[in-house]
Amino acid sequence: MNKNLSARIEAIQESATLAMAAKAREFKNRGVDVINLSLGEPDFKTPQHICEAAKKAIDDGKYFAYPPVAGYQDLREAIAAKYQKENNVPYKAENIVVSNGAKQSIANTMLALLNKGDEVIVFSPFWVSYDALVRLTEATPVLVKGTLENDFKVTASQLEKAITPKTRALIFSSPCNPTGSVFTRKELEAIAQIVLKHENLLVIADEIYEHINFMGDQVSIASLPDMFDRTITVNGFAKGFAMTGWRVGYIAAPKWIADGCNKVQGQLTSANCSISQRGALAAITGDLKPTESMVKEYHHRRDVVYNLLKEIPGVKANYPQGAFYFFPDVSSYFGKSDGTKAVKNSDDFCMYMLEKAHVSLVPGEAFGDEKCVRISYAAAEKDLIEAMKRMKNSLAELK
Ligand code: PMP
Repeated sequence: MNKNLSARIEAIQESATLAMAAKAREFKNRGVDVINLSLGEPDFKTPQHICEAAKKAIDDGKYFAYPPVAGYQDLREAIAAKYQKENNVPYKAENIVVSNGAKQSIANTMLALLNKGDEVIVFSPFWVSYDALVRLTEATPVLVKGTLENDFKVTASQLEKAITPKTRALIFSSPCNPTGSVFTRKELEAIAQIVLKHENLLVIADEIYEHINFMGDQVSIASLPDMFDRTITVNGFAKGFAMTGWRVGYIAAPKWIADGCNKVQGQLTSANCSISQRGALAAITGDLKPTESMVKEYHHRRDVVYNLLKEIPGVKANYPQGAFYFFPDVSSYFGKSDGTKAVKNSDDFCMYMLEKAHVSLVPGEAFGDEKCVRISYAAAEKDLIEAMKRMKNSLAELK
């Protein structure tokens, strides 16, 4: 029998972050004291008022049926109201589609918009799934690479050079996973100017880390003049509200695109989990203090890790302004060995770290830069300090 998977599935890789987390778990199960810095997962619990709202939804007995495909009306209205008030974008409920995580929101968007042969410009370094999801639709990802000197941010002129008649969309996250970089208003205005020169070009703006922004100035590109019609804003509850397992994300987009996503979702998943949506409603309408205190903690850890990373010779890191990652260039260690193990690339570097330092990181290749590794600092401060110490000591053995 033909046991070939589809060409579409063969063309994509397994998620590198999940693969690395699985490897770390393997080591842990063998009794190794691994510090896992590979996952983009808040180490906080979901705030109490959100949990209470979900419990109440179960007890009320009113949320057992299929929810509307695009999400409950009150949740979509609350999301639209938040965007009007906080992000200065005049979305209405009709513009919102709530899905099983921002990952599905992006997948819906791509399935709704892309055809074989279309090109999607992916600002690189990029979140691992962008490239895979573009490939899944049989469109072509075109990576445009930001430099460490520019905080890994792609410039408007780099963007302009990459646009061809086939370009349908561009995608980026700000704050960025994996680099922690945040686009300023001025940088987004320059990007918008280029986009507006091309009448069929759309922007997929992933704002899932919007709360975890240490600069304070979070700009939605959809709020810039004439960009409402050109932007699909992606957001979700996983990061800012420590709700990864609840699986609630959403898009906000012009109605014709939201309708397209609705159609995809109606066939794929029917809707997002009813109880999770009641939790999400409490999150978006409720007290932001728990979020603010988590952000304060991430901010503090950013500085702790930055100061320790600076002390490791040969590691070059930018100073991230948001999210909870570092993406240092560690290529000065490539070609070195501890006598038994040679480190040739970022994969080897991460394996060396796991085996020798018992610290789990993710190779940069999966994010578009093979010289780098991603370190998540969504972990307890004492573990971060210990991990940096172990890294420093293990790296000192590479000659
Ligand atoms: N976008 C980015 C930039 C992310 O880092 C993540 C999660 N790692 C997602 C989207 C997906 O979020 P969710 O858990 O809501 O699917």
